[in-house]
Amino acid sequence: MGNDAADELARLATSLEVVGPEPITPIPFSVTDSPLCRACMEADETPTHVLLQCRGVEEQRAAYLGSPASLPKALGDLGGLLSFWSELGWLK
Ligand SMILES: [Zn+2]
Repeated sequence: MGNDAADELARLATSLEVVGPEPITPIPFSVTDSPLCRACMEADETPTHVLLQCRGVEEQRAAYLGSPASLPKALGDLGGLLSFWSELGWLK
């Protein structure tokens, strides 16, 4: 009886070891099967592409971020950035 409980605990501990922490993605990039931008399908979906170059999100980008001259500038506007992602529906 006591041995059964110990065995059960050992079994549980072993099975728990395979459960690792999920990787955390702070911004919604590289979560799709394809690396291609889901807005235009013309280039890889990178922060630089989406925030500065993508024509598929041009309207939303202009509305929330204006025309950021560089990536740090775009990332600096956190409120605009969140509204932008939210508008696109890319936030998980
Ligand atoms: Zn694009």
